[in-house]
Amino acid sequence: MKIDFTTATFKDFENIEGFDMMQRADIYYDFLEYMKTNGHRYRLQNNTGCSSIMNIGENNVTKDIISFVTSDYLGMTQHPKVKEAAMRGIEEFGTGSAATPLIGGYYSYHNELETKIAGFFGRRQEEAVTFTTGYTANSATLQILLQKEDIAIIDMAVHASVYEGCILTNRKTFPHNNLDALEHILKTSEQQFRTKLVVIDGVYSQDGDTAPIEEIYKLVKKYNAYLMIDDVHGVGILGQTGRGTIEEAGLLDKIDIITGTFSKTFGNIGGYVIADKKLTNFIRFQSRQQIFSATTPPGTAAGIVKAIDLIDEEPHLRTKLWENIHYFKNGLDALGLETGTTRSAVIPVKIGEPRTTMDVGKMLLDRGVYTNPIMYPAVARKDARIRMSMTATHEKEHLDKTLNAFEDINKKLHIAKK
Ligand code: PMP
Repeated sequence: MKIDFTTATFKDFENIEGFDMMQRADIYYDFLEYMKTNGHRYRLQNNTGCSSIMNIGENNVTKDIISFVTSDYLGMTQHPKVKEAAMRGIEEFGTGSAATPLIGGYYSYHNELETKIAGFFGRRQEEAVTFTTGYTANSATLQILLQKEDIAIIDMAVHASVYEGCILTNRKTFPHNNLDALEHILKTSEQQFRTKLVVIDGVYSQDGDTAPIEEIYKLVKKYNAYLMIDDVHGVGILGQTGRGTIEEAGLLDKIDIITGTFSKTFGNIGGYVIADKKLTNFIRFQSRQQIFSATTPPGTAAGIVKAIDLIDEEPHLRTKLWENIHYFKNGLDALGLETGTTRSAVIPVKIGEPRTTMDVGKMLLDRGVYTNPIMYPAVARKDARIRMSMTATHEKEHLDKTLNAFEDINKKLHIAKK
């Protein structure tokens, strides 16, 4: 089988029929070389840490650019109080946990973190369990809770970690945010499966749009199912007090399982699950990832604890983020660029054609603006886009410079849809 490098996407390399592992890796290596010689890079080195201004590049070819590629929505990775708390944690406990939670890797900061994140959602400590990443929080929870007699009913746009968690159970997907399709699956699954768990995101990671949580919750109850919501892009950003999309829906005390990450709004790394204490204890003591994998460094847990406090102590960060989102989105709209249905800090500029999207990404970078060109399989084949994440640390001049770059690129490539 021959792959046409001029049109290939990552997905084409997943399973090239008729070749062994080394041959497949060989073909892929040639593709990376081909892309490099055509000026595309898949991974840029950041020399400065998360910020709206980053220094990127290697081997003395570096430059400062405006960055829209991190999910450091409130700027917590650089917040002096978060850094101070994490450094104090390292001073006290050292750099690593060096053990899994059940055999010595559960430190007092992990205990404090469970209490803090549970309290953030109005729950008690036992109702929270933490993981080393948000990815694992999703995949491990689904893996341990669902068996072959059960079914996960998932919105097709959920995160890859949810798909991974469903490998060992039955899985049905419904078209994105389509309530009729969801109801049909719920109705037809009612007798057939033991546990029916509907899994959705609060904010969807590629379009930045939100789920109709209230309507989905009603359907889930009507058909005796359970609801799990991953709100990694909503927490800290949406809801009157920053508790995310579930707070907006008024259902913080009703959702069966809430999952999230400490790597975005909370500026560190780790994941969490909030649920009934019987479920969290089952996950805590049964999940393979809890039993066989080390906990986050205690210093990191100390930093997260402070970041959680800051959501309430410094609401001006959220206000600044929203000022930036509105200003930038209005600017893109004025240029006729298509931003879809976003209502969060994830802002896509929809282009459609994957190669044009990559060209736009490269032209933006040449103009000093770092974004993520996103294409199949992360989104549908003809729905490629430039994905940007807004933060509270962007300044108006960064946004104006980026809007000017889009205006110039549009003159050359005619990417405006309106
Ligand atoms: N869920 C969603 C919707 C995400 O976008 C991400 C991060 N890309 C994750 C889960 C995983 O979070 P983490 O980076 O903490 O593993």
